[in-house]
Parts: sequence; C-alpha cells; structure tokens
Amino acid sequence: AYKMSVLEEAKRVAAEFEYSSEDLNRGVKAFISQMDEGLQKKGTSMSQIPTYVTAVPNGTEKGLYLAVDLGGTNFRVCSIQLHGNTTFSLTQSKVAIPRELMVAKTSHELFSFLAKQIENFLRTHHNDHFEAHVKRRKTMSSGEGFRNEEIFQLGFTFSFPVNQIGINRGTLARWTKGFDIDDAIGQDVCELLQIEIDALHLPVKVAALVNDTVGTLMARSYTSPGKTGTLLGAIFGTGTNGAYVEKLDKVTKLKSIVEGADYDKSTGNMIVNTEWGSFDNQMSVLPNTPYDEALDKATPNPGIQMFEKRVSGMFLGEILRNTILTLVKDPKCQLFKDSNSSTNDLHSTTTIAENSALYKQWGVDTSFLSIVAADVSPGLKVTRQELSKGFGVDAASTEDAEAIKLLVNAIGKRSARLSAVALGAIVISTDNHVSTGGGDDDVVDIGVDGSLVEYYPGFEDYVREAFREMPEIGAQGERRIRIGIAKDGSGVGAALIALVAAHMG
Ligand code: ADP
Repeated sequence: AYKMSVLEEAKRVAAEFEYSSEDLNRGVKAFISQMDEGLQKKGTSMSQIPTYVTAVPNGTEKGLYLAVDLGGTNFRVCSIQLHGNTTFSLTQSKVAIPRELMVAKTSHELFSFLAKQIENFLRTHHNDHFEAHVKRRKTMSSGEGFRNEEIFQLGFTFSFPVNQIGINRGTLARWTKGFDIDDAIGQDVCELLQIEIDALHLPVKVAALVNDTVGTLMARSYTSPGKTGTLLGAIFGTGTNGAYVEKLDKVTKLKSIVEGADYDKSTGNMIVNTEWGSFDNQMSVLPNTPYDEALDKATPNPGIQMFEKRVSGMFLGEILRNTILTLVKDPKCQLFKDSNSSTNDLHSTTTIAENSALYKQWGVDTSFLSIVAADVSPGLKVTRQELSKGFGVDAASTEDAEAIKLLVNAIGKRSARLSAVALGAIVISTDNHVSTGGGDDDVVDIGVDGSLVEYYPGFEDYVREAFREMPEIGAQGERRIRIGIAKDGSGVGAALIALVAAHMG
C-alpha cells in the first residue's frame, strides 16, 4: 500500500517523546545547578523554600495531634494518634467548601467556617477532652492559662503559594484553584485560623504550616525509618513537587530572608520545599514537542510550571489528546478512519463522535493512560472498549488501539524519566557516595504519593532504569534506593510537623 500504516504513523509520533540517556544526564546537571541557585537567592525558577523543619522523624514519636488540610474542593480535619512504634491511627472527617466561601468578601467568612469544622470534629470524636476543657475554662481565674497538655497541637496543610517565614508563619502570596478573597493576600494564614479558633475558645494551637510534600517526607520517615531517615518526599498526582533534607549551611539565602526566625539549628539540616514543578521554565534542557507546545499555549499560565506540564497527572492526558488529534486530522493517517471507505480516499471520514471528549480541552484524563498501559487483553479489547465508552470512537480497530498504546507508552515513559531527573539529581547532590555506599542497611529512602506513581503501570521501573543510566548512581546505587508510598501522608505528616514545632517552642 502507498500509505503509511497507522502503526508507523504512531511510531513516528512516539519517537518525538524519546528522552535519551544523554538528555537524562544533561537534565540532572541542570537540575542540580538550578537547585543550588534556588538555595542562594530569591526569584529563581525553582523556589527552594526553607520550611523551618530541621529533622525527620524516626518512628518513635508519640502523641495525639490534630491536622487540617485546605487543598481545593474539600476541607479535611483529622486527629492522629502516633503510637511510637512506626504505626498510627487516624480519625478523619471531610466537608466540601461552599463555593461562596471560596470567593467570600472577607477571609473571616472562610476561616470562621474552618474553625467551626474543627469544633464539630472535636465534639464528635474527642468529646471527653473537649467537655473537660469547657468545664475548666469556666472555673479558671482570669489570667490563668491552659496547661500545655490540654491543648491540641495542630498542623495546617495549606496548598496555596505562601511565603513561609517560620514553622507556623506564612503569608499568602496569591490564591489559586478558584479561591479569591482579597483581604487574605499578604496575611499570615496560621494567624487567620488561630484568631477564629480562639473566638470559639477551642483548645487548639496552630503549631505548624505544612506543605504536602514535606508531609509526605515526614510521614514516610515515621512509618519506614532507616539508619538516616527519609531523604526525599515527592508527589506525582495532579501536580508534581518534592521536598528533601538539605544541609543548613547550603541554604545561604536563609540569612537574608528573616533575621531572628527561630528554628532548631542543632541538627545542621533543613527540609527544603523545591517547588520543582517550575524546574527549567526557561527551557534550557526540557524536552519539547508540538504537543507540549499546544498544551502550554492553551493554559492560563504559558511558560510557567514547564516541568510539571511534562510530568504530572493533570497534563499527560492532554498531551495524549494532542497527539491523537494530530494523527486524526492528518488526511494521510488512517487512525480512527472508516475502514470501509476506499483505501486511497483522502476524505475518508473518522469514526469519532462529533461531541467526543477528544475534541475538548482536558477531555482525556490521565487515568485513561493507566488503563491502556496495563491492557494485555487479546486484540487490546479493553482499550477499544474504553475508546468507545469514554470517547465515542466506535469502530476502533486493533491496529488503532495498538497505535494509542504506543503513544501512551511514549508519554508515560518520558514522564517517568523526567521524574527520575528530579529524584536522581537530589540523591546525587545530597549523597556523594550513593554509588559506592556500603551495607544492605545503607539505604537512600524516598517517600512518594499521588495517583500517577501509585497507578501508572511500571512508573517506578522506568524511574529505576533511568537511575541506572546515571553514572553517579549506576546499578549499585540504584539497588540502594528504596521507594515507598507514603499513605495518608498529609495528615500524618502535618501531625509530625506539629509535634516537632511543639517541642521547639
Ligand atoms: P492530588 O494530587 O490532587 O492530591 P491524586 O494524587 O489523586 O490527587 O492525583 C490526581 C491526578 O491523578 C489527576 O490529574 C488524575 O488525572 C490523575 N489520575 C487519577 N487516577 C489515575 C490513574 N489511575 N493513573 C494515572 N493518573 C491518574
């Protein structure tokens, strides 16, 4: 036949996503240099935010803590009992945030709602403690304070951009994710919450402001302690980001940020929140394809979060959609074309329903990639069913499905290899003997969380393969790296940071 087969066309596009060993190692070098730059000064592409958390847990921590999480659509309140033997129990409640509060006139409206949820939670799950507190408050003479053990220490996970200036101090830089409350900008979000908690006379102290990656790192270190604790916590979910243990004296910009911010300097370490989603926004080493460019142009923030836009769950489905549409629109390519029309007919019609999600921005969810990548059914029946059910592609052939699988594998593999750049760069820059370290117990521990790393088939295998291709890690170093999911990371991690904070003060 004179025309290229669907599979050949798909192979050609898939090849555009190849990310070679050379690319990978160039990426690592650039990542390390952008990390270092971020530690030295403000306003760099990777923010490298000091968290004022200076140690990771070792699994023996004990106590009852509260944690709240304001992330996007929901507000979660939980209490965590740390048993001190690497295990914990967790009680949780979740409420949807009313839309009108996301865009309220004053921050008081939102934060008093949050405080009210904390009160409801305490009444429901810790009523004894709560009633005892109310009683004692009534009999207390004026000026008498509460004893420390009567007060719940609370870790506040707040997933919006903040300028953190202390372990429980951080000012809101800007709202994202549909929130918009003017008077909160520039205010300390811990203080806003504490004021409303105090107005309700709750026995709660906002002890720590927590980023979810730091929570992941802390939770992993508690549940899976090793000789040196966990080095790095990373999220591969809607977005991607990581936090790691850095040598305090390398965080040189700390001196110029705030004089007199108090934190425990004795460990010589500080956990740094990299904000690696914006690694290489300047595009000096990141791979680029027409499909990436189309995605970026159609976002509200073109040129920003360029690493994240090639790696995380929010974007992989959209990259795939762009590749599929390019092939579908190419009159020479037979993907999803009606096989009954004559073979040389350049006007053959597609078998895609007019209102297919394939034609809508964000129409393809990354969970579709996981389904296709996992499909080993005869004739890729599962993929063909998904194409029909999810995208109104009715007469997809086995060859069509194979073509989609080639594209999916290419996009998924590039995402994993880019993830390895971030993880590998941090391992290499913080541990200069990773490839030669001795002993089986001399592990480098990484905690991860997020649907992509949890559910995309073979994600970790691709990451490990990439580690072996890095000369500073190699096969021997790769075997020393342990990667584990940090379950319930945000709640447990926030509790652990509240604990650290309480012991500092
Ligand atoms: P979040 O990061 O928002 O806390 P998740 O870790 O669940 O939550 O990530 C959600 C993202 O993961 C979404 O972008 C979604 O498209 C993607 N996702 C959901 N399920 C899967 C899956 N099975 N495989 C790969 N990606 C998935």
